[in-house]
Amino acid sequence: MSDIKKEEEKGLNFIEEIIEADLAAGKYNSIITRFPPEPNGYLHIGHASSICLNFGLTLKYPGYTNLRFDDTNPVTEDTEYVESIKEDIKWLGFTWKNELYASDYFDNLYAFAIKLINKGLAYVDDSTSEAIAAMKGTTTQPGVNSPYRDRSVEENLDLFARMKAGEFADGSRTLRAKIDMAHPNMIMRDPVLYRIKHAHHHRTGDAWCIYPMYDFAHGQSDSIEEVTHSLCTMEFVPHRELYDWCIEKLEIYPSHQYEFARRNLNYTVTSKRKLLQLVNEKHVTGWDDPRMPTISGLRRRGYTPFSIRDFCDRIGIAKRENMIDVSLLEFCVREDLNKSALRRMVVFDPLKVILTNYPEGQEEMLQSEDNPEAETVIHRDIPFSRELYIEREDFMEVPPKKFFRLAPGQMVRLKSAYIIRCDEVVKDEKGIITELHCSYIPESKSGSDTSGINVKGTLHWVSAKHAVSAEVRLYDRLFKVEDPSSEEGDFKSYINPDSLQVIDHVYAEPALLKSKFDERYQFLRKGYFCLDKDTSEEKLVFNRTVTLKDAWAKEQKKG
Ligand code: ATP
Ligand code: MG
Repeated sequence: MSDIKKEEEKGLNFIEEIIEADLAAGKYNSIITRFPPEPNGYLHIGHASSICLNFGLTLKYPGYTNLRFDDTNPVTEDTEYVESIKEDIKWLGFTWKNELYASDYFDNLYAFAIKLINKGLAYVDDSTSEAIAAMKGTTTQPGVNSPYRDRSVEENLDLFARMKAGEFADGSRTLRAKIDMAHPNMIMRDPVLYRIKHAHHHRTGDAWCIYPMYDFAHGQSDSIEEVTHSLCTMEFVPHRELYDWCIEKLEIYPSHQYEFARRNLNYTVTSKRKLLQLVNEKHVTGWDDPRMPTISGLRRRGYTPFSIRDFCDRIGIAKRENMIDVSLLEFCVREDLNKSALRRMVVFDPLKVILTNYPEGQEEMLQSEDNPEAETVIHRDIPFSRELYIEREDFMEVPPKKFFRLAPGQMVRLKSAYIIRCDEVVKDEKGIITELHCSYIPESKSGSDTSGINVKGTLHWVSAKHAVSAEVRLYDRLFKVEDPSSEEGDFKSYINPDSLQVIDHVYAEPALLKSKFDERYQFLRKGYFCLDKDTSEEKLVFNRTVTLKDAWAKEQKKG
C-alpha cells in the first residue's frame, strides 16, 4: 500500500500530514501553533475554523497553542476587541498556553531592524507612499530603485533612530528591506518594514511612533515564540518568501508558514471590516446581534460551542477557497440541540378553545417529558383547564384532505393531554373566528389513554389562565444573496429587510418563567429557542436559534 493511501485512510488533512511527517522524521518532538487575531473586531465563524485548526492540532499532537494578538496597527485596535476575542475562544472550549502580544516585541523588532540595517539589508526611504508605489513596477515590468536605496549604514542608523525619536511626520519616511526591485515576486521588491505613525497604541500608549508592518512582525513573532507550524490563510502565500527571507537574514528560529483556504459562509459576510460597517451604520444592533456571523452573535442566537466545533470539523480544511452553505451550520446546531433542548409549548398566534364539558373552575396538572431524547427522563408540570389557546393556523373551518389538525367535527390530541373534538365555531360580526367550542374525551389522557380513539394530529397548546407572556425574535438570513461581497455595488444594498421578525406577545406555558440563560428550549413545532439578554423582570425575550426543519431547502425545491 502506498503512503498516500495510508494517509487517506487515517483521514488526515494536509497540515496533519506535514506534522506527522515532521514528528516521524524527528524534526520536532512537539509542536507549537498560535492563533494570531488582529484585535480590530470581533471574531467570526471563519476565525472559528482557524481556532479549531490551531488548537485542535495541539490537542491531537504533543505541544501547545499560543494566543497572540497581532496588534501592530495602533489605529484600528482596541482592548474591547481583545476581551471579546479571549471570551470567544474560551467559550468555544479552547485554552491557550500563553497570552502574547506582538506589541510586546516592539523592542525585539526594532533590534531586528537595526540588524538588517547593519547588514546592509535595509534602508530609510524618504519617498512618499505614492512614489514608492510608482517605482514598484508591475508583474510584467521590473521596478525602479529608490534614489535613497544606497544610503550608508551610518546614515540609515541615524535616520531610523530619529524616526523612532519622533522627529519626522507621518508618511515622510519608511524603513525598507533591500532585496531586489526586479524580483518576480512583487512583495520582495524592497518591502516596507516600518512606517511612521504618531498614534496612541492600546497597549504601548505613546511609547512608539514607528510601527512594524505585518511582514516584519508576524514571522518574527512566530520565531520569538518558536512556533513550529505557523498557519495562515491563502492570501499570504506570496508573503512566505519574505517570511523566509527575514528569518534567514536575521538568523532567528526557523518557523514555517503553511497556508489553508479561508472559509466563507453564504448569505453573510466574513470580514471584520464589513461587519464593523454593519455595526457602525446600525444595520444590526451590535457585534452580538443574533443575525451576525460573529461568535458572539451565534452565542446570543443560541448556538452551542459543540455545534460550532462540529461544523468546523465537518468542513475541515482545504487549499481552495469555497463557500460553505449556512444550512450545514444550522444542521450542526439542530443535531446538538435535539439532544439537549428542553421541550416547551408556546402559542404564537392564539385561538381560544373552550372545553364545554370540562367543569368550570377545575384545573389539573399534567406531566410531560422535558426532553424525550435525554438519557434520564425528567417530567415537568403543565396546567390544564377549561380554556386553552391553540395556534390559529392549527384550525381550518373548511379543511383540505389530509388536514390532520383541528376542523369542525374533527379530533386531535393536545400534546401530553387529551383528545378533543371541535363542536362549534364562534365568530364575531365580521366573520372572524373568535373561539372554538370543543369537548374533551376524559378517558384519552396521555399516558393512561383507554379511549381507543386514534387521531393523526397532535397540537401544542397552553392553558389560557396560566399562560405567561413573552417576546420572541425570529431571524432570517441577513443578506438576500449568497455572496454579497461579490455582487455589484455596495454589499449593504443586499441586506435582507426581513431578517428580524418580532412577535411581542406570545403565550407560553408557565415552566418558561423559570428559564435560564444556559438552557436551550425546543418550542414544540416552532424551533429551538434560547433566552435573550434583553430579558428583564417585566419581560421574557427568546431568540429562535433555528427552525426545526430546513425551511429553505423546502422552499428551494418548490421554487
Ligand atoms: P478579517 O478579514 O475578517 O479581518 P483577518 O484574516 O484579517 O480577517 P485576523 O484577525 O488577521 O483576521 O485573523 C486571525 C486568523 O484567523 C488568521 O490566521 C486568519 O488567517 C484566520 N482567518 C480569518 N478569517 C478566516 C476565514 N474566513 N477562514 C479561515 N480562517 C480565517
Ligand atoms: Mg488580518
